Amino acid sequence: MENATKCIHAGYTPKNGESRMIPIIQSTTFKYDTSEDMGKLFDLEASGYFYTRLQNPTNDMVAGKICALEGGTAAMLTSSGQAANFFATFNIAQNGDHIVASSSIYGGTFNLFNVTMRKMGVDFTFISPDSTDEEIQAAFKPNTKAVFGETIANPALTVFDIERWAKIAHKNGVPLIVDNTFATPINCRPFEWGADIVTHSTTKYMDGHDATVGGCIVDSGKFDWMAHAEKFPGLCTPDESYHGITYAQKFGKEGAFITKCTAQLMRDFGCIQSPQNAFILNLGLESLHVRMPKHVENGQAVAEFLEQHEKVVKVNYPGLPSDPYHALAQKYLPKGGCGVVSFEVKGGRAGAEAFMKRLKLAAIETHVADARTCCLNPATSTHRQMTEEQLAAAGIPAGMIRISCGLEDKKDLIADLEQALEAI
Ligand code: PLP
Repeated sequence: MENATKCIHAGYTPKNGESRMIPIIQSTTFKYDTSEDMGKLFDLEASGYFYTRLQNPTNDMVAGKICALEGGTAAMLTSSGQAANFFATFNIAQNGDHIVASSSIYGGTFNLFNVTMRKMGVDFTFISPDSTDEEIQAAFKPNTKAVFGETIANPALTVFDIERWAKIAHKNGVPLIVDNTFATPINCRPFEWGADIVTHSTTKYMDGHDATVGGCIVDSGKFDWMAHAEKFPGLCTPDESYHGITYAQKFGKEGAFITKCTAQLMRDFGCIQSPQNAFILNLGLESLHVRMPKHVENGQAVAEFLEQHEKVVKVNYPGLPSDPYHALAQKYLPKGGCGVVSFEVKGGRAGAEAFMKRLKLAAIETHVADARTCCLNPATSTHRQMTEEQLAAAGIPAGMIRISCGLEDKKDLIADLEQALEAI
Protein backbone atom coordinates (compact mmCIF):
# COMPACT_ATOMS: atom_id res chain seq x y z
CA MET A 1 0.00 0.00 0.00
CA GLU A 2 1.25 3.50 -0.84
CA ASN A 3 1.81 6.05 1.93
CA ALA A 4 -1.02 8.23 0.58
CA THR A 5 -3.46 5.39 1.17
CA LYS A 6 -1.91 4.58 4.55
CA CYS A 7 -2.44 8.20 5.65
CA ILE A 8 -6.15 7.60 5.29
CA HIS A 9 -6.59 3.96 6.26
CA ALA A 10 -3.68 2.54 8.26
CA GLY A 11 -4.08 1.89 11.99
CA TYR A 12 -7.85 1.42 12.10
CA THR A 13 -10.21 -0.79 10.10
CA PRO A 14 -13.77 -0.59 11.43
CA LYS A 15 -15.74 -3.81 11.53
CA ASN A 16 -19.41 -4.12 10.63
CA GLY A 17 -21.38 -1.30 12.24
CA GLU A 18 -18.38 0.32 13.95
CA SER A 19 -17.57 4.04 13.81
CA ARG A 20 -16.04 5.28 10.56
CA MET A 21 -13.66 7.58 12.44
CA ILE A 22 -11.23 6.21 14.99
CA PRO A 23 -12.99 6.14 18.35
CA ILE A 24 -11.66 8.29 21.18
CA ILE A 25 -11.36 5.90 24.13
CA GLN A 26 -11.53 8.56 26.82
CA SER A 27 -11.00 6.25 29.77
CA THR A 28 -8.23 6.02 32.30
CA THR A 29 -8.92 2.38 32.99
CA PHE A 30 -10.38 -0.82 31.55
CA LYS A 31 -12.69 -3.42 33.11
CA TYR A 32 -11.98 -7.16 33.36
CA ASP A 33 -14.14 -10.09 34.43
CA THR A 34 -11.51 -11.81 36.56
CA SER A 35 -8.28 -10.90 38.31
CA GLU A 36 -6.70 -13.70 36.34
CA ASP A 37 -7.54 -11.93 33.04
CA MET A 38 -5.95 -8.78 34.36
CA GLY A 39 -2.94 -10.64 35.71
CA LYS A 40 -2.17 -11.91 32.20
CA LEU A 41 -1.96 -8.30 31.01
CA PHE A 42 0.38 -7.36 33.83
CA ASP A 43 2.61 -10.32 32.96
CA LEU A 44 2.53 -9.27 29.28
CA GLU A 45 1.07 -12.73 28.58
CA ALA A 46 -1.98 -11.26 26.84
CA SER A 47 -2.36 -8.01 24.89
CA GLY A 48 -4.88 -5.46 26.07
CA TYR A 49 -5.17 -2.32 28.13
CA PHE A 50 -5.30 -1.70 31.84
CA TYR A 51 -4.33 1.92 32.48
CA THR A 52 -3.99 4.90 30.12
CA ARG A 53 -0.77 6.11 31.79
CA LEU A 54 0.90 3.28 29.84
CA GLN A 55 -1.25 2.60 26.79
CA ASN A 56 -4.54 3.58 25.23
CA PRO A 57 -6.37 2.04 22.24
CA THR A 58 -6.87 5.39 20.42
CA ASN A 59 -3.18 6.16 20.77
CA ASP A 60 -2.25 2.73 19.46
CA MET A 61 -4.42 3.15 16.37
CA VAL A 62 -2.66 6.43 15.54
CA ALA A 63 0.78 5.02 16.40
CA GLY A 64 -0.10 2.12 14.10
CA LYS A 65 -0.69 4.56 11.26
CA ILE A 66 2.67 6.30 11.78
CA CYS A 67 4.33 2.88 12.09
CA ALA A 68 2.89 1.86 8.72
CA LEU A 69 3.95 5.18 7.13
CA GLU A 70 7.54 4.69 8.31
CA GLY A 71 7.57 0.97 7.44
CA GLY A 72 8.28 -0.10 11.03
CA THR A 73 7.16 -3.04 13.17
CA ALA A 74 6.03 -1.27 16.39
CA ALA A 75 5.35 2.29 17.51
CA MET A 76 4.09 4.35 20.43
CA LEU A 77 2.83 7.89 20.87
CA THR A 78 4.33 10.17 23.51
CA SER A 79 3.12 13.44 25.01
CA SER A 80 5.66 15.51 23.00
CA GLY A 81 8.60 15.27 20.63
CA GLN A 82 10.87 15.92 23.60
CA ALA A 83 9.43 12.87 25.37
CA ALA A 84 9.93 10.79 22.21
CA ASN A 85 13.62 11.67 21.95
CA PHE A 86 14.13 11.18 25.69
CA PHE A 87 12.46 7.77 25.69
CA ALA A 88 14.13 6.60 22.46
CA THR A 89 17.60 7.28 23.87
CA PHE A 90 17.02 6.45 27.55
CA ASN A 91 15.45 3.12 26.57
CA ILE A 92 18.92 1.87 25.62
CA ALA A 93 21.41 4.20 27.32
CA GLN A 94 21.54 4.47 31.08
CA ASN A 95 23.81 5.93 33.75
CA GLY A 96 27.41 5.33 32.61
CA ASP A 97 26.55 4.99 28.90
CA HIS A 98 27.37 7.25 25.98
CA ILE A 99 25.68 8.39 22.75
CA VAL A 100 27.20 9.93 19.61
CA ALA A 101 24.93 12.70 18.27
CA SER A 102 24.99 15.07 15.35
CA SER A 103 25.66 18.61 16.57
CA SER A 104 23.10 19.90 14.07
CA ILE A 105 19.89 19.12 15.94
CA TYR A 106 16.94 21.01 17.45
CA GLY A 107 18.01 23.18 20.41
CA GLY A 108 15.50 21.54 22.76
CA THR A 109 16.91 18.10 21.96
CA PHE A 110 20.45 19.43 22.40
CA ASN A 111 19.51 20.75 25.85
CA LEU A 112 17.77 17.49 26.78
CA PHE A 113 20.92 15.55 25.87
CA ASN A 114 23.59 18.00 26.95
CA VAL A 115 22.09 19.11 30.26
CA THR A 116 19.25 16.94 31.56
CA MET A 117 20.39 13.51 30.39
CA ARG A 118 23.96 14.29 31.43
CA LYS A 119 22.55 14.84 34.94
CA MET A 120 21.14 11.32 34.67
CA GLY A 121 24.61 10.01 33.88
CA VAL A 122 24.31 9.59 30.10
CA ASP A 123 27.27 11.12 28.27
CA PHE A 124 27.08 12.61 24.76
CA THR A 125 29.62 13.49 22.08
CA PHE A 126 28.30 15.98 19.52
CA ILE A 127 29.95 16.03 16.13
CA SER A 128 29.19 17.75 12.83
CA PRO A 129 26.80 15.86 10.56
CA ASP A 130 29.42 16.45 7.86
CA SER A 131 32.16 14.63 9.81
CA THR A 132 34.25 12.16 7.81
CA ASP A 133 33.86 8.43 8.47
CA GLU A 134 37.10 8.55 10.49
CA GLU A 135 35.86 11.47 12.61
CA ILE A 136 32.56 9.68 13.33
CA GLN A 137 34.42 6.49 14.25
CA ALA A 138 36.73 8.44 16.57
CA ALA A 139 33.70 9.65 18.55
CA PHE A 140 32.79 6.10 19.63
CA LYS A 141 33.70 4.84 23.10
CA PRO A 142 33.44 1.33 24.57
CA ASN A 143 30.24 2.45 26.36
CA THR A 144 28.56 3.99 23.27
CA LYS A 145 24.99 2.67 22.95
CA ALA A 146 23.43 4.67 20.10
CA VAL A 147 23.91 7.28 17.38
CA PHE A 148 21.45 10.15 16.87
CA GLY A 149 20.72 12.66 14.08
CA GLU A 150 17.91 14.63 12.36
CA THR A 151 16.94 13.95 8.72
CA ILE A 152 16.60 17.72 8.14
CA ALA A 153 17.89 19.62 11.14
CA ASN A 154 15.88 22.34 12.85
CA PRO A 155 16.87 25.16 12.35
CA ALA A 156 20.16 24.63 10.47
CA LEU A 157 18.46 22.72 7.59
CA THR A 158 21.45 20.41 7.22
CA VAL A 159 20.64 17.04 5.62
CA PHE A 160 21.80 13.97 7.53
CA ASP A 161 23.66 11.30 5.53
CA ILE A 162 21.58 8.49 7.06
CA GLU A 163 23.06 5.59 5.09
CA ARG A 164 26.67 6.52 5.91
CA TRP A 165 25.96 7.10 9.62
CA ALA A 166 23.91 3.88 9.85
CA LYS A 167 26.80 1.83 8.43
CA ILE A 168 29.22 3.23 11.01
CA ALA A 169 26.71 2.75 13.87
CA HIS A 170 26.17 -0.87 12.84
CA LYS A 171 29.91 -1.52 12.51
CA ASN A 172 30.09 -0.52 16.17
CA GLY A 173 27.13 -2.72 17.15
CA VAL A 174 24.71 0.09 18.03
CA PRO A 175 21.46 1.40 16.49
CA LEU A 176 20.97 4.67 14.61
CA ILE A 177 18.09 6.83 15.90
CA VAL A 178 16.79 9.42 13.43
CA ASP A 179 14.44 12.30 14.25
CA ASN A 180 12.37 12.50 11.05
CA THR A 181 10.14 15.40 12.14
CA PHE A 182 10.85 17.87 9.31
CA ALA A 183 10.88 15.40 6.40
CA THR A 184 8.00 13.19 7.62
CA PRO A 185 7.66 9.70 6.06
CA ILE A 186 6.03 11.35 3.05
CA ASN A 187 9.41 12.76 1.97
CA CYS A 188 11.90 10.36 3.59
CA ARG A 189 11.69 6.95 5.21
CA PRO A 190 14.93 6.60 7.23
CA PHE A 191 14.50 2.82 7.71
CA GLU A 192 15.06 2.38 3.96
CA TRP A 193 18.53 3.88 4.47
CA GLY A 194 19.48 1.79 7.50
CA ALA A 195 18.12 3.75 10.48
CA ASP A 196 16.85 1.52 13.30
CA ILE A 197 14.60 3.79 15.35
CA VAL A 198 12.70 6.87 14.12
CA THR A 199 11.30 9.64 16.32
CA HIS A 200 8.88 12.47 15.60
CA SER A 201 7.61 15.66 17.07
CA THR A 202 4.08 15.10 15.77
CA THR A 203 3.45 18.69 16.89
CA LYS A 204 4.90 19.75 13.51
CA TYR A 205 3.74 18.64 10.05
CA MET A 206 1.96 15.50 11.24
CA ASP A 207 -0.58 17.51 13.22
CA GLY A 208 0.07 20.41 10.89
CA HIS A 209 -2.56 22.78 12.26
CA ASP A 210 -1.05 24.17 15.50
CA ALA A 211 -3.55 22.09 17.45
CA THR A 212 -1.71 19.43 19.49
CA VAL A 213 1.69 18.78 21.04
CA GLY A 214 2.81 15.18 20.63
CA GLY A 215 5.53 12.72 19.73
CA CYS A 216 6.04 9.25 18.31
CA ILE A 217 8.71 6.53 18.39
CA VAL A 218 8.84 3.87 15.67
CA ASP A 219 11.01 0.74 15.64
CA SER A 220 12.21 -0.73 12.34
CA GLY A 221 12.36 -4.16 13.99
CA LYS A 222 15.72 -4.75 12.29
CA PHE A 223 18.24 -4.18 15.05
CA ASP A 224 19.41 -7.48 16.56
CA TRP A 225 19.68 -6.67 20.26
CA MET A 226 20.59 -10.24 21.21
CA ALA A 227 23.57 -10.19 18.82
CA HIS A 228 24.97 -7.36 21.00
CA ALA A 229 23.50 -8.57 24.29
CA GLU A 230 26.44 -7.35 26.37
CA LYS A 231 25.74 -3.75 25.29
CA PHE A 232 22.00 -3.85 25.93
CA PRO A 233 21.35 -5.59 29.25
CA GLY A 234 18.06 -3.71 29.64
CA LEU A 235 16.68 -5.53 26.60
CA CYS A 236 18.61 -8.77 26.81
CA THR A 237 18.52 -9.75 30.51
CA PRO A 238 15.49 -10.28 32.76
CA ASP A 239 13.69 -7.11 33.92
CA GLU A 240 13.10 -7.74 37.62
CA SER A 241 10.80 -4.71 37.72
CA TYR A 242 8.58 -6.47 35.20
CA HIS A 243 8.22 -10.05 36.38
CA GLY A 244 11.59 -11.17 35.07
CA ILE A 245 10.74 -10.63 31.39
CA THR A 246 13.63 -10.54 28.90
CA TYR A 247 12.20 -8.23 26.26
CA ALA A 248 14.44 -9.23 23.33
CA GLN A 249 13.68 -12.90 23.93
CA LYS A 250 9.96 -12.62 24.49
CA PHE A 251 9.14 -9.98 21.87
CA GLY A 252 11.97 -10.47 19.36
CA LYS A 253 13.62 -7.81 17.22
CA GLU A 254 10.21 -6.58 16.07
CA GLY A 255 8.65 -5.79 19.43
CA ALA A 256 11.29 -5.62 22.17
CA PHE A 257 12.17 -1.91 21.96
CA ILE A 258 8.63 -0.50 22.08
CA THR A 259 7.43 -3.06 24.65
CA LYS A 260 10.29 -2.18 27.02
CA CYS A 261 9.76 1.54 26.41
CA THR A 262 6.06 1.18 27.27
CA ALA A 263 6.43 -1.24 30.18
CA GLN A 264 9.28 0.67 31.85
CA LEU A 265 9.52 4.28 30.74
CA MET A 266 5.85 5.01 30.09
CA ARG A 267 4.96 3.20 33.30
CA ASP A 268 7.46 5.26 35.32
CA PHE A 269 7.34 8.66 33.59
CA GLY A 270 3.80 8.60 32.18
CA CYS A 271 4.51 10.92 29.23
CA ILE A 272 1.41 9.63 27.44
CA GLN A 273 -0.40 11.57 24.73
CA SER A 274 -4.04 12.17 25.59
CA PRO A 275 -6.47 10.15 23.43
CA GLN A 276 -8.16 13.44 22.45
CA ASN A 277 -4.86 14.73 21.10
CA ALA A 278 -4.22 11.44 19.32
CA PHE A 279 -7.59 11.84 17.58
CA ILE A 280 -6.68 15.37 16.44
CA LEU A 281 -3.27 14.16 15.33
CA ASN A 282 -5.00 11.52 13.23
CA LEU A 283 -7.01 14.21 11.45
CA GLY A 284 -3.71 15.85 10.53
CA LEU A 285 -2.21 12.57 9.36
CA GLU A 286 -5.15 11.99 7.01
CA SER A 287 -3.98 14.90 4.84
CA LEU A 288 -0.21 14.73 5.44
CA HIS A 289 0.46 13.35 1.94
CA VAL A 290 -1.57 16.21 0.39
CA ARG A 291 -0.04 18.96 2.54
CA MET A 292 3.66 18.05 2.37
CA PRO A 293 4.03 18.64 -1.41
CA LYS A 294 2.40 22.08 -0.94
CA HIS A 295 4.76 22.99 1.92
CA VAL A 296 7.67 21.94 -0.31
CA GLU A 297 6.32 23.91 -3.29
CA ASN A 298 5.99 27.03 -1.15
CA GLY A 299 9.39 26.54 0.52
CA GLN A 300 11.09 26.12 -2.84
CA ALA A 301 9.35 29.16 -4.37
CA VAL A 302 10.18 31.36 -1.36
CA ALA A 303 13.81 30.16 -1.29
CA GLU A 304 14.22 30.89 -5.01
CA PHE A 305 12.64 34.33 -4.63
CA LEU A 306 14.84 35.23 -1.65
CA GLU A 307 18.02 33.96 -3.30
CA GLN A 308 17.80 36.49 -6.11
CA HIS A 309 16.75 39.44 -3.89
CA GLU A 310 19.29 42.24 -3.40
CA LYS A 311 18.40 42.70 0.30
CA VAL A 312 19.15 39.05 1.07
CA VAL A 313 22.70 37.98 1.94
CA LYS A 314 22.23 34.21 2.09
CA VAL A 315 19.53 31.52 1.87
CA ASN A 316 19.65 28.02 3.41
CA TYR A 317 17.31 25.56 1.70
CA PRO A 318 18.45 22.10 0.56
CA GLY A 319 16.14 22.34 -2.46
CA LEU A 320 18.33 25.12 -3.94
CA PRO A 321 21.11 23.85 -6.27
CA SER A 322 23.46 26.36 -4.56
CA ASP A 323 22.85 24.81 -1.11
CA PRO A 324 25.73 22.71 0.31
CA TYR A 325 23.21 19.97 1.17
CA HIS A 326 21.60 19.82 -2.28
CA ALA A 327 23.31 16.56 -3.30
CA LEU A 328 22.25 14.82 -0.07
CA ALA A 329 18.74 16.22 -0.49
CA GLN A 330 18.54 14.76 -3.99
CA LYS A 331 19.46 11.35 -2.55
CA TYR A 332 17.29 11.33 0.59
CA LEU A 333 14.57 13.83 -0.31
CA PRO A 334 13.81 13.40 -4.02
CA LYS A 335 10.28 14.78 -3.51
CA GLY A 336 11.63 17.78 -1.58
CA GLY A 337 12.26 18.30 2.11
CA CYS A 338 9.98 20.67 3.95
CA GLY A 339 8.62 24.22 4.00
CA VAL A 340 11.19 25.71 6.36
CA VAL A 341 13.72 28.14 4.87
CA SER A 342 16.30 30.23 6.68
CA PHE A 343 17.87 33.37 5.26
CA GLU A 344 19.96 36.35 6.25
CA VAL A 345 18.89 39.88 5.40
CA LYS A 346 21.17 42.89 4.98
CA GLY A 347 21.42 45.25 7.94
CA GLY A 348 21.84 42.66 10.71
CA ARG A 349 19.55 42.86 13.73
CA ALA A 350 18.03 46.20 12.69
CA GLY A 351 17.39 44.96 9.16
CA ALA A 352 15.66 41.83 10.43
CA GLU A 353 13.59 43.85 12.90
CA ALA A 354 12.43 46.32 10.23
CA PHE A 355 11.57 43.46 7.86
CA MET A 356 9.62 41.45 10.42
CA LYS A 357 7.68 44.49 11.60
CA ARG A 358 6.43 45.07 8.05
CA LEU A 359 5.22 41.49 7.45
CA LYS A 360 1.45 41.23 7.04
CA LEU A 361 0.77 37.56 6.32
CA ALA A 362 3.69 35.72 7.95
CA ALA A 363 3.17 35.79 11.69
CA ILE A 364 5.95 36.07 14.26
CA GLU A 365 5.93 32.81 16.25
CA THR A 366 8.33 30.31 17.76
CA HIS A 367 6.55 27.47 15.98
CA VAL A 368 7.27 25.86 12.61
CA ALA A 369 5.71 23.33 10.24
CA ASP A 370 2.03 24.08 10.17
CA ALA A 371 -0.64 25.44 7.84
CA ARG A 372 0.03 29.14 8.61
CA THR A 373 3.27 30.78 7.53
CA CYS A 374 5.31 32.00 10.46
CA CYS A 375 8.77 33.34 11.04
CA LEU A 376 11.29 34.13 13.73
CA ASN A 377 14.45 36.20 14.08
CA PRO A 378 16.61 34.33 16.63
CA ALA A 379 18.67 37.46 17.42
CA THR A 380 15.65 39.41 18.65
CA SER A 381 13.75 36.49 20.18
CA THR A 382 15.12 33.08 21.21
CA HIS A 383 18.75 34.30 21.27
CA ARG A 384 18.17 37.96 22.24
CA GLN A 385 20.54 37.80 25.24
CA MET A 386 23.51 37.24 22.89
CA THR A 387 25.77 39.99 21.59
CA GLU A 388 26.51 40.38 17.86
CA GLU A 389 29.87 38.61 18.40
CA GLN A 390 28.31 35.72 20.31
CA LEU A 391 25.67 35.28 17.62
CA ALA A 392 28.34 35.15 14.92
CA ALA A 393 30.31 32.57 16.92
CA ALA A 394 27.17 30.41 17.24
CA GLY A 395 26.66 30.57 13.47
CA ILE A 396 23.48 32.62 13.83
CA PRO A 397 23.95 35.96 12.09
CA ALA A 398 21.90 38.78 13.68
CA GLY A 399 20.02 39.22 10.40
CA MET A 400 19.05 35.53 10.18
CA ILE A 401 15.33 34.76 9.82
CA ARG A 402 13.68 31.34 9.85
CA ILE A 403 10.47 31.18 7.88
CA SER A 404 8.13 28.20 7.91
CA CYS A 405 6.07 28.30 4.73
CA GLY A 406 2.50 27.24 5.33
CA LEU A 407 -0.21 26.23 2.90
CA GLU A 408 -1.16 29.68 1.55
CA ASP A 409 -0.80 30.59 -2.12
CA LYS A 410 2.89 31.10 -2.85
CA LYS A 411 2.13 34.33 -4.77
CA ASP A 412 0.73 35.88 -1.59
CA LEU A 413 3.70 34.69 0.47
CA ILE A 414 6.22 36.15 -1.97
CA ALA A 415 4.26 39.41 -2.21
CA ASP A 416 4.33 39.71 1.58
CA LEU A 417 8.09 39.08 1.73
CA GLU A 418 8.70 41.48 -1.15
CA GLN A 419 6.89 44.39 0.49
CA ALA A 420 8.52 43.66 3.87
CA LEU A 421 12.03 43.56 2.35
CA GLU A 422 11.48 47.14 1.21
CA ALA A 423 11.59 48.19 4.87
CA ILE A 424 15.31 47.33 5.05
N1 PLP B 1 12.52 17.36 17.19
C1 PLP B 1 12.51 18.37 16.31
C2 PLP B 1 13.22 18.22 15.01
C3 PLP B 1 11.83 19.56 16.60
O1 PLP B 1 11.80 20.56 15.71
C4 PLP B 1 11.16 19.68 17.85
C5 PLP B 1 10.43 20.92 18.22
O2 PLP B 1 10.52 21.92 17.56
C6 PLP B 1 11.22 18.60 18.75
C7 PLP B 1 11.89 17.46 18.39
C8 PLP B 1 10.54 18.68 20.08
O3 PLP B 1 9.18 18.46 19.88
P1 PLP B 1 8.00 19.01 20.85
O4 PLP B 1 8.01 20.49 20.75
O5 PLP B 1 6.80 18.34 20.28
O6 PLP B 1 8.34 18.50 22.21
